[in-house]
Amino acid sequence: MNIKRFFTEFLYLIFPNCCFVCGEGLLLGEQYVCTQCISNIPRTGFHLQKDNPAEKRFWGKADVFRATAFFRYEKGSAFRTLVYNLKYKGHKELGEILGRFAASDLLQSNDFASVNCIVPVPLHPNKLRQRGYNQSEFIARGLAAVMCKDIDIQNLARLIENPTQTKKSVYERFQNTEGIFGVKNPQLFENKHIMLVDDVMTTGSTIEGCILAMKNVKNIKISVFTLAIA
Ligand SMILES: [Zn+2]
Repeated sequence: MNIKRFFTEFLYLIFPNCCFVCGEGLLLGEQYVCTQCISNIPRTGFHLQKDNPAEKRFWGKADVFRATAFFRYEKGSAFRTLVYNLKYKGHKELGEILGRFAASDLLQSNDFASVNCIVPVPLHPNKLRQRGYNQSEFIARGLAAVMCKDIDIQNLARLIENPTQTKKSVYERFQNTEGIFGVKNPQLFENKHIMLVDDVMTTGSTIEGCILAMKNVKNIKISVFTLAIA
């Protein structure tokens, strides 16, 4: 046993690292989630299914080539803790790890393998300052690393902070999506297949707002990936 490995194993003994989902101790090489839980994650398989429920959310609202989500965000499911820890507990690296696992699924689909550029849904600068990081950017980094794609975190920007959506009616929310996001240089997205990345898809209105912002980009194809779908 070499000395580095000895110390790593020693550290594991005094600071046990546990799986966020099942609470069992992690093995060397595992981070945040154990291999068993990763294989049990309720995957949607939407990347291999055209006209899937994620794509249907955009029908009649926005032009989406393909849409998918890595796993189902079910009530009471132990896997919800992954999103919670990623978004609210500062565990940004968890996004990258889950993005890497999801990427190997996406590469099974020619539609997703043909993406040119991965674009995380941006946070408003105030929110970014508050949280310290953009969780969607970390998911996007994991995806980009395994899929060998470019990532762009500059060109799409959030212009308006989210009005507290819980208090608004569906109609108002729909009205609100236009003008929330903006594209700085449309030419950078021209003739590209862009994959927008977000943490959880609920109504799809945030992503719809991003797509609206890109409506004047010439010859753009937009696909969508979210870590989870509610
Ligand atoms: Zn586990």
